[in-house]
Amino acid sequence: MTLKLFNTLGRKIEDFVPIIPNEVGLYTCGPTVYNFAHIGNLRTYLFEDILRRTLEYLGYSVNQVMNVTDVGHLTDDADQGEDKMMKSSREQGRSVWDIAEFYSEAFFKDLELLNILKPTIVCKATEHITEMIELIKRIEDNGFTYSAGGNLYFDIAKAKDYGKLALLNLQELKAGARIEVDKNKKTPHDFVLWFTRSKFEHQAMMWNSPWGRGYPGWHVECSAMSIKYLGEQFDIHCGGVDHISVHHTNEIAQSEAATGKKWVNHWLHGEFLVLNKEKMAKSSGKFLTLAALLEQGIKPLDYRYFCLGAHYRSQVQFSFEGLEGAKAARANMAERLIHLQGEVEESGAEPGETVPGEKKGAEAEEYLTAFKKNICNDLNTPRALADFWGLLKDNGIQAAEKLKILYEMDKVLGLDIAKFKLQDEEIDEQIKMLIKERELARAEKDFRRADRIRAELNGRGIILRDTPSGTGWRKKQAG
Ligand code: AMP
Ligand code: ZN
Repeated sequence: MTLKLFNTLGRKIEDFVPIIPNEVGLYTCGPTVYNFAHIGNLRTYLFEDILRRTLEYLGYSVNQVMNVTDVGHLTDDADQGEDKMMKSSREQGRSVWDIAEFYSEAFFKDLELLNILKPTIVCKATEHITEMIELIKRIEDNGFTYSAGGNLYFDIAKAKDYGKLALLNLQELKAGARIEVDKNKKTPHDFVLWFTRSKFEHQAMMWNSPWGRGYPGWHVECSAMSIKYLGEQFDIHCGGVDHISVHHTNEIAQSEAATGKKWVNHWLHGEFLVLNKEKMAKSSGKFLTLAALLEQGIKPLDYRYFCLGAHYRSQVQFSFEGLEGAKAARANMAERLIHLQGEVEESGAEPGETVPGEKKGAEAEEYLTAFKKNICNDLNTPRALADFWGLLKDNGIQAAEKLKILYEMDKVLGLDIAKFKLQDEEIDEQIKMLIKERELARAEKDFRRADRIRAELNGRGIILRDTPSGTGWRKKQAG
């Protein structure tokens, strides 16, 4: 099935065609690690995860690269304001390096909790300064730069199609439509490639370069690292919609200035999560984290479910009522799945195995076809989720077949349904302990003790099921 994706570059839905058959180079702009990721940021990473899972489901081998910005991002994307890392370091009384490490770790923990696949390559800006300097040299050699006031700037007037991603009008830009503070810039949208004259008294992160001791502009890191790991031309680049007009526009300008060729084929952007009609923003300090949701009894996968309910190109209004709805729906899904798993076990069939005398699941395949069609239609997760529900609720389909196809769908949705059983909160502590004891007995190959524990739990109405990811359990049906 052909994957159709909306390309911000050109603003239309296009068939996805990779440069190398069956392989995908995917770059997803990563976090600036000066604070916890907020759930708006996480919505963008969730959409990118659906994209990655869809590509892999379709059989592509995906090389996903994500940067970690630990230097050079000012509070305004267009070179104004304070350095985000330094500001955080000052406020928290810790070194910038400490801040970067702490929040990177917290970020990847959040991704794990949301069942987001880890990028194949994670790269830190501070570990790629040499690559950035090399790239800037190429841009300079090709005549796209000028020095002013101690900084090296990119001259957007030299780029033939600057602003093509954001559909910016260069004539208007030249006229200085925006209020500009930096008097060194020839055109307001010119941007810094290398800073040598730091605005900050205690600039902690500095490196030697042909333009003097200093630090890179924010945009250059994504160009340098993506080119290093994915080559001078690659398939897909993603981020949130806020990156279209400045960050990604500047990434394109400088990358194409360096290489002289088209850089990325498909550009995908996730819409915002909004809070009281305002974009949820890290820099404003008013934002919700995954931990804050947990305090309200909303689990990370409830949030994942909530996000799946909206198309990635639609804005989503945050509300606790909305999240409660997602939580209830997921609990309902879990209950049905636990019941379904029980049915499959009782029938003695493996998921997907047909039990003689029962209806074959041809109709289940139809649900899967619809699911694939929807997910291939620019990642339509709300429709795909509806296909999942349609199949789950369809009583005319044989249980083992149904379960097999639901597992297939979950490869894309990532709700981790195979573990639903292990997450039941009502399990009492004693049963949990017995299951642990039995797992220990099995690890020690004391199968007699393991069997005794199973029999004991069975006597209490608990049926166990061993899977590669752990032991699941369910209560026996009454009657
Ligand atoms: P940052 O760490 O600020 O560089 O942002 C990380 C990612 O989150 C970027 O791709 C942003 O475009 C995205 N982002 C920022 N705010 C929001 C929001 N309110 N909703 C969705 N995505 C966002
Ligand atoms: Zn980037």
